[in-house]
Formats: sequence, C-alpha cells, structure tokens
Amino acid sequence: MSHLVYADHAATTQLDKEALEAMMPYLTQPYGNPSAAHSMAQAAKEAVKQARRTIASCIGAEPEEIHFTCGGTEANNWAIKGVAFAEDTPAAIATSAIEHRSVLASCAALQRRGFSTTYIPATAEGIVSPAVMEEQMLPTTKLVSVMLANNELGTVQPISALAEMAHRHGALFHTDAVAAIGHMPLDVKALGVDLLSASAHKFGGPQGVGFLYVKRGTPITPLFDGGGQENGLRAGTENVAAIVGMAAALQNRTAHMAAHRSHLAHLTTLFLDGLQAAGITYLHNGGNDRLPGLLSLAFPTIEAETLLHRLDLLGIAVSAGAACNGGATTVSHVLQSIGLPEEIAASTIRISFGVTNTEEDIEAFLSALQRIFTP
Ligand code: PMP
Repeated sequence: MSHLVYADHAATTQLDKEALEAMMPYLTQPYGNPSAAHSMAQAAKEAVKQARRTIASCIGAEPEEIHFTCGGTEANNWAIKGVAFAEDTPAAIATSAIEHRSVLASCAALQRRGFSTTYIPATAEGIVSPAVMEEQMLPTTKLVSVMLANNELGTVQPISALAEMAHRHGALFHTDAVAAIGHMPLDVKALGVDLLSASAHKFGGPQGVGFLYVKRGTPITPLFDGGGQENGLRAGTENVAAIVGMAAALQNRTAHMAAHRSHLAHLTTLFLDGLQAAGITYLHNGGNDRLPGLLSLAFPTIEAETLLHRLDLLGIAVSAGAACNGGATTVSHVLQSIGLPEEIAASTIRISFGVTNTEEDIEAFLSALQRIFTP
C-alpha cells in the first residue's frame, strides 16, 4: 500500500493545526474549572468566553446565543426536544425524510410521547421544497427542522424560504448545519433560523464538541439539569480545550472559506474528469447546488460494500451511506427518500474530499478505481 487517501471527511476530518495549537495550553498547563471562583480559573473562564465570541462572530450571532454541547447529536436532540417540551401540550413537528438520524430519532421519540410528526420526502435532486412542506403545516405545528446541507448528497437546502414559511405559520425553525458549517458561508440572520446545530469535528475541530445557536427569546427547556452553566440551559462542566479548538477551527475555516471551496471544487472536477477519461461509468446522485467536495456516486456494476472494501485494501477510505448508520449495509434512508432505484442506491458510495487532499490523492484514487474496474 503506497499512497493512503482519506476521502471520508464528511464522517470526520483531521484536526486543523490552528485548533490543536489553540487547545494545547488548556490540555497541558495548570487550569481551573471555568465556574470556580478563584483566580486560577480565570484563564479557563476567559477562554470559554472568547470562544463564544469568536463562534458568534463567524455566524452572525450574539455570544449569549451560543450554547456549547458535546456535538451535533446533542444539539439536534436538544433543539427538537427542548422546543417540544417548552410546550404545555404535545404539539406537531415537521421535518424531512433526509435528516440525520439524530433528528429523525428525536422526532420519533416525541411521537412516542404523543407529539405528531411529519416527514417530508425530498425531490429527486435531494431538495426539501418549501411548498411541499407548507402543505403539511398544521395549526399545531410548533417546529420545523430541515438540515442546511445533506451529509450524504451534499445538497444545500432552501433554508431561508423554509424558515420564512415556518414563521408565517407561527412555528419555530431549526436547521442541522453540521454538514454545512465551515464549508459554506453562513449567517443565522440571513438564514432566518431560530435554532442551528453544529459539530466541531466536521470542520477541523475536535470530536465530542459542538454548539446549539438559540436565537434570543426562543422558548427552550434544558435537557441536562444540574449546574448553571450555559446560562442555566445546559448543565455540566465545559470541555474548555475542545471549545477553544472548535472556535479556532471555525475561525480558520471561515477565514479561508473561498480558497478551500475552490480547492475542493478543483479536486472534484479532476476526479470526475478522470473517471470519464478512464471510461468508468458512474451516476452522480442529487442536484447541482452541492457542497464542494462531497459526492454521492453510484457505480452500477458493483455493490457499494464490495467497492468500499476493495478501495480500503488499496488504501482509499470512503463510506457507503453515512458512517453514523453504524456500518449498516441497508440502503440509506436518504437515497431511498430521493427515489433512487434500489440497485443504484445499493451501489452508491459517498466520497468526501477535505482541504488536506491533494491532486496526488486524486491520481491515486483514480488508479485504484482503474485497477478495480479494469477487467
Ligand atoms: N447531523 C449531521 C448532518 C451529521 O452529519 C452528523 C454526524 N454524522 C450529526 C448530525 C451528528 O453529529 P455528531 O457526530 O457531532 O454527534
């Protein structure tokens, strides 16, 4: 195995050097609990405060609207259940069928507690239509949740139109921005969202940390009760180093957004042109408005699981469906929702390039595919 290629950055991506450097003092030097009263805790307290300011400024929010969590899964659970439990009686929630499991499972958990939930299918291009969503709105609908970009297809959703529609019907709007943040320009006010979930390990920060943006005045109940951290909304001692690393990574990704996006678009073009030149047949799932570098490709002559393992043996890491489905071999719910024929869905892999990938990686990936597809 000569040249290893990691092309699964949508599952998790390497820690940015800027993030690691920012974190080191909080992992290695004397430090205190940010909630402690003594002066040694000041550095930790100040670091968390500064990280909150940095993150807020990257997404057009106010610092007090940022609430740290242990990742995207917690942020999604909290947004959905926290808004639902703020209601006196079970209400209705509307979401899409292409959401991440943490959204779908949160809605299902509410359904078991008497809430009504609706799942809107996406179009063949992987888009959640505001008009279709509007048809499903009930007088009791209190929350609409649609992701900003889909983590399997990369398709970017019409969030500001969806949020505007939800508000017109008196509902709050949540977006799972885990796949999108750090990869596309993002401003919570321009999007018009009330709640937004993020996870650091998808944009060069560490694993196990994320945040929930909650627009000032949005009614939400805590999921974790205990100490008064995060303005009394999320109890638990802050993971100071991880929070600092997340802020540094988001700042870095925001500062270099244009360059990163054009690098990823360039690698994608090289890769797709290379497939065509090699005569390898593929289908590109989803529509055109996609995150750069995230590709859902079907290779109809081979099962996705087989292709994934053969690529793995040749030193190329990709995924079949979403990694968070626990390596399940079942066809992804996202590919089902966009109406792909089962055999196409079963031969689909997700390739996600990251900013650390190079042209040499693309060459190595293409030559591995040629070895697999050349009889
Ligand atoms: N939402 C989306 C769109 C994701 O891709 C993921 C991660 N697979 C999550 C939520 C969950 O985030 P985390 O891994 O931080 O729990």
